[in-house]
Amino acid sequence: MTAGATLVDPQARVIDYLRVSVTDRCNYHCTYCVPPEGADRRPRAELLPFEEIAALVRLFAGLGVRRVRLTGGEPTVRPDLPALVRLLREIPGLEEIALSTNGHLLERWAAPLRAAGVVRLNVSLDSLDPEVFHRLTRGGDLAHVLAGLDAAATAGFRPIKLNTVAIKGVNDGEVAAICRFAWERGFVPRFIEEMPMAAGRTYQAGSCLSAAEIRAAVAVLDPSGRIVEDDGGAARGGGPARYFRLAGTAPARRFGVISPMTEHFCASCNRLRLSATGALHACLGHDDAVDLRGPLRTGDPEAVRAAIRRALAGKRPGHTFDLVGIGGPRKAMVQIGG
Ligand code: SAM
Repeated sequence: MTAGATLVDPQARVIDYLRVSVTDRCNYHCTYCVPPEGADRRPRAELLPFEEIAALVRLFAGLGVRRVRLTGGEPTVRPDLPALVRLLREIPGLEEIALSTNGHLLERWAAPLRAAGVVRLNVSLDSLDPEVFHRLTRGGDLAHVLAGLDAAATAGFRPIKLNTVAIKGVNDGEVAAICRFAWERGFVPRFIEEMPMAAGRTYQAGSCLSAAEIRAAVAVLDPSGRIVEDDGGAARGGGPARYFRLAGTAPARRFGVISPMTEHFCASCNRLRLSATGALHACLGHDDAVDLRGPLRTGDPEAVRAAIRRALAGKRPGHTFDLVGIGGPRKAMVQIGG
């Protein structure tokens, strides 16, 4: 392990960001994420114990990873997630621990996670209408998420980012309302273009609300009808979101757009994804992965580093998602680690 080491892929992209799935289980089953028949889950015994996740992150940090985002599945369904955060916090070179959650259990976990060392928080919020929310999440309870957001704000998370997957005919009419909701509370709304995961089984051609359509839906909130690009301020993290604000507002009414489909950002991709069972995915848009659990269990750190370099060498120039719903992985997001 070299101080100042960097991971560089064949496209000369520097990789300093690792998404770590802590479970492939989720208490929600969002229609755009999980196919109607459900996604195969690995036996619970195959999930990496926290100590092994921390051992892998330590090796990644030694190779140049600076930021980790805990995800899933739903990370907060994994018992005692703060214990993992405390292990990660001790890792030299790791500068930031972030979390993505659906917020359902956040009322219980926001304060302990913040105390443990999570500094950035993204919460999924696809609708402010309890019925739509329930349908879209296949059983989710909006009231729990709103209580979770309150708890997160009270726990001191700033800024809290809201992630909305924007889908035509489902929640596209709520873009402005979600912005208003977020701004009133000091949150930053972000809209994600829907990707055709799971061999397109979660996706309908024509349903993806494009980045341009998202921006137009927010622009109506500005008195002049204009938005301008913005640096994102404190909301800017290690991810691919582009930030904008209403042209005529001070303080900034800011929002983010994550546009893997119509304005994709593969050329600046800086990330790898570790699945809950230790498979390292170099690209969300492809099924191929390199196993790290086997090498880790040999006890030889060089075996793990070699496997990481192998995954990196195979990192594709870009995903091949198509707007009609083909070209993506057979796996669902929960299986790779969103
Ligand atoms: N359960 C956590 C959450 O809700 O943030 C973490 C995992 S979830 C898979 C991570 C993010 O991926 C969420 O914001 C979710 O909305 C998004 N997502 C899932 N499937 C997607 C898809 N097909 N297209 C775009 N975003 C998707």
